[in-house]
Amino acid sequence: MALDIQTLLVLMMTNVFVIALALPAIMGWQVSTAARFVLGSAVAQGLGWLAFLVAPRINDRWLSTLSMALLSGSFVSMWHALRHWLGPRPGRRLLWLAAGLTPVGYGLGFESYAFRVGWSNFGLALQMCLVCLAVAWPAPHASRRWRTLVFVCLAAMVVVTVWRGVLGAFFTELYPYYRAPHPVNIAAAVLNHLALMLWTMAFLVAWREEAERELRRQAETDSLTGLLNRRVFAERAADLLANARRYGEKLAVVMIDIDHFKQINDRHGHAVGDHALSLLAQVLRASARRGDLVCRYGGEEFCAVLWHADAHAAACFDDRVRSALKLRLREVDPAVAFDFSAGVAVRTDADTSIEDLLRRADAALYAAKAEGRARMVNAQPLVQPV
Ligand code: GH3
Ligand code: MG
Ligand code: MG
Repeated sequence: MALDIQTLLVLMMTNVFVIALALPAIMGWQVSTAARFVLGSAVAQGLGWLAFLVAPRINDRWLSTLSMALLSGSFVSMWHALRHWLGPRPGRRLLWLAAGLTPVGYGLGFESYAFRVGWSNFGLALQMCLVCLAVAWPAPHASRRWRTLVFVCLAAMVVVTVWRGVLGAFFTELYPYYRAPHPVNIAAAVLNHLALMLWTMAFLVAWREEAERELRRQAETDSLTGLLNRRVFAERAADLLANARRYGEKLAVVMIDIDHFKQINDRHGHAVGDHALSLLAQVLRASARRGDLVCRYGGEEFCAVLWHADAHAAACFDDRVRSALKLRLREVDPAVAFDFSAGVAVRTDADTSIEDLLRRADAALYAAKAEGRARMVNAQPLVQPV
């Protein structure tokens, strides 16, 4: 079998460019940051191969060095795509360092073939290792399948790249020029094709996963405040109540309604009203604990389910929200001040459904309004029919 390295490299470059053009054609230009990094990585890689191929005819030293910089840039870009999809990843500084030193060392040591081949291959292999680490680092919300795919193809690339570096640096007679038909060189060129194809597939899956996550988020939350919407809240609150009943846990439901909200809209305009709603939403979210639920119940009404909370804990929550809100309002716009009324219902055995609790909390909220607003009122327990 006679595989020609030059042909494989030209094909590789063509493939990378086709992918770089095809991806935006499929996805459009309005893509996420992660997807843009993937595109950037494909473009950098394509240009890298192009520079590498034309280098001997124009200016070997400068264009090969440029090609190393572009290939390194493509790994950095890939790493950042993963970081945007999967959350914080380790190794960013080391990657940037390796991506900077690889072309610099290559350019400076260009005169020595053994040095430059060893240096560049080890540098690129280190960068691939860091991308491997980024893809393998835990990311609970992302599927393992595409990550495993990327991991395996990059790991294989690391092996052949290190191998090529060792050959070039220490057994130079076996690998005297980059088109040398040494088996490891051919394996590297073929693997590059496979890696590119698998990475593209993995990328499309990751992109779809991201779109699904975004759709789910939109279906579950209120667009203005980012809090859970009423439908999802009702489902999750019912689950929480079922658990609380089973384990005899305390649970409190707090209904909140902004006082005289209509006046804010009337005096300052709808946009300020909207801003006030998101501000209270932020405060509520920050005041709730992990495991509690907070939702936008309707227009200017909010509802929270506090896990393991009795009347005292609910009163503390109410205090926290009021003081945090005062502080935020003073920071943001002292002219727009508002307060809220709240009704709290603490779970008793008579509350068999979440609607029972919501109804009682709502009645308490109504009482808070009637008593003069800007306060919290505890609900009456449900009277069981005798
Ligand atoms: P109260 O103290 O009795 O609760 O009086 P209120 O003015 O807060 O209550 P009311 O029910 O009379 O008015 C609620 C207002 O909330 C009316 C509605 O236009 C406004 N509203 C509902 N949803 C939104 C929204 O998404 N954005 C804005 N800016 N206003 C909203
Ligand atoms: Mg209302
Ligand atoms: Mg109101």
